[in-house]
Amino acid sequence: MSLIAVGTMAFDDIETPFGKSDRIIGGSATYIAWSASNFIRPVRQISVIGGDFPTSELDALAERGVDLAGVQVKKNERSFFWAGRYHLDMNTRDTLDTQLNVLGDFKPTVPESYQGSEFLILGNLMPSLQLDVIRQLRHRPDLIVLDTMNFWMETAMPDLELVLKEVDVLMINDSEARQLSAQFSLVKAAREIMAMGPEYLVIKKGEHGALLFHKDQVFYAPALPLEDVFDPTGAGDTFAGGFIGHLARTKDISFENMKTAIIVGSAMASFCVEKFGTTRLKELKEADINARIKQFVDLVNFDISLV
Ligand code: AMP
Repeated sequence: MSLIAVGTMAFDDIETPFGKSDRIIGGSATYIAWSASNFIRPVRQISVIGGDFPTSELDALAERGVDLAGVQVKKNERSFFWAGRYHLDMNTRDTLDTQLNVLGDFKPTVPESYQGSEFLILGNLMPSLQLDVIRQLRHRPDLIVLDTMNFWMETAMPDLELVLKEVDVLMINDSEARQLSAQFSLVKAAREIMAMGPEYLVIKKGEHGALLFHKDQVFYAPALPLEDVFDPTGAGDTFAGGFIGHLARTKDISFENMKTAIIVGSAMASFCVEKFGTTRLKELKEADINARIKQFVDLVNFDISLV
C-alpha cells in the first residue's frame, strides 16, 4: 500500500499559556508525515519549502521513511510561516499571522513514482492546490481524505466546494463544521456537509474527542484525559496521519475499521500535544504507541447488561 501526503512544511511561532516558541518546524504535511510513517512507509510527500528550511529536518524525515521527491525547494524564497496564540483552555486559538511565501505561487507536481498510490491525504492547504493534486493522479486513490480550516472557508470557499465533491473523508473541527454548514447542531451540520460530497465526516472536538459520521451512523471516540497539554499545534494533522496510516496499513476502508482508525488518530494526537512542535512525535517508539492505544481501549471499555 502506498500513501501520498500533501500539505505545508512550515515555520511556526507558537504562544501557549505555558510558553512561547519561535520559528519551530511545523506545517500540516510535516505533522502528517511524522504520524503516518509509524504505520506505513514510504509516505510520499508533496509540499514546498524555501531555502531557509533546515536540511537536518529533511534528513530526519527521509530517515523516517518519508519520500521527499515531491517536495519542491525554492532556494531564494522563504518557507510558509504561521503564528498562533492559544487561549487558556488550549482548545481555541487565534491565528496571529499567515505568510504564504513559497506557497503563494506553488504549483504541486506529482512525481511519476507517486502514480498508482492507493491512499491520498490532502492536508491543510489552498483548496485549489488540493484539487490540482487529485487531477494529476491517473488512477483515483481508493481513499481520499481532506483536511481544511476556517482560513480557507473564508478566503477560498468556491474552490473548497469543488474539492469537497472529490473526496471520501473530510476532517474538520466542530467550529469549522458549524461555519461550513451554518448549522449549530453537529448532527445537522454533518448531514449538510456530507451532502456537499464526502461520504464520511470526522468532526474533531479537541480535548473532547472526535465524532465519525457516515450516512445515519455515528461513532464517538474520546480524547485521552492528559495531565499536561503543552502545545496543541499539529494535533489535527497528527490525528489525520494516524487515521490514514492505520487504514493504509490494514488495507481496509470500511466504516468499522475507520472506528479503529479514529482511536489510532486520537492516540497519536495525544502524544503530539505533550511537547512543543514535533518533538514528541520524533521520540516515539512502536511500544509507546501500542501502550497508548491500550489506554484508549481501557478508557472506553465497559460491560452493560440491559434488562
Ligand atoms: P493543526 O494544529 O493540526 O491545525 O495544524 C497546525 C499546523 O498547520 C501548523 O504547523 C501550521 O504551520 C499549519 N498551518 C496553519 N495555517 C495553515 C494554513 N492556512 N494552511 C496550511 N497549513 C497551515
